Amino acid sequence: MLKENLLDVKEKIRMACERAGRNPDEVTLIAVSKTKPLSDIEELILCEQMEYGENKVQELVDKYEHVSKPVNWHLIGHLQTNKVKYIVDKACLIHSVDSLHLAKEIEKEAAKKSVICKILIQVNIAKEDTKFGVSEEEACSLIEQIKDFPHIQIEGLMTIAPFVDNPEKNRHIFRNLHQLLLDIKSKNIDNVNMNVLSMGMTNDYEVAIEEGATMVRVGTGIFGARNYNIE
Ligand SMILES: *Cc1c(COP(=O)(O)O)cnc(C)c1O
Repeated sequence: MLKENLLDVKEKIRMACERAGRNPDEVTLIAVSKTKPLSDIEELILCEQMEYGENKVQELVDKYEHVSKPVNWHLIGHLQTNKVKYIVDKACLIHSVDSLHLAKEIEKEAAKKSVICKILIQVNIAKEDTKFGVSEEEACSLIEQIKDFPHIQIEGLMTIAPFVDNPEKNRHIFRNLHQLLLDIKSKNIDNVNMNVLSMGMTNDYEVAIEEGATMVRVGTGIFGARNYNIE
């Protein structure tokens, strides 16, 4: 069943790219495996799915240590500074950097381990006060403050759009994040890459791709519904 779901999502990605005149190779599918067992991940590895997203540090580390093949782990959830040390050499990309305080901690721990940590700046385009992320206005100044950290590489932007009944309602959010990425990119800031746009989840990834997403984070659409009660 997971294989069929994966193929179905990939086909929808391909069609969204076609509608937008984009090359499907530009879009990376991150399978969001939070709360799901390692056996599900092993099944998808057999289908050559190599990018996985987790929103909790402990769960990412556990799966990282037990998975049978090296895959790429994306930390997509809120990151507390006291957990940075566990993740900095394990996540291929941290999607959720939204403060200088957090970036300083990442710099410190990445330096200790002599790694360069790739990050995205999380932007709260929807301006929901329940969500993490900097405002559009703050994004640029945060980037300016982080750009010269020797053990951090800024790769782009990420947002979490609200859950809506009709994904069209999130189109303006994706469009705004893409525009922000282009605006920052046009400044040609030293040491800053603005090539990754992480946006779109099960409910709205096709719209996100039409609006320029280069990474989509799909959980339910691949693994089925999550049951938080049996955790
Ligand atoms: C859980 C989660 C997803 C995936 O959500 P689905 O609706 O199951 O696709 C994507 N991004 C983040 C940050 C998440 O926490």
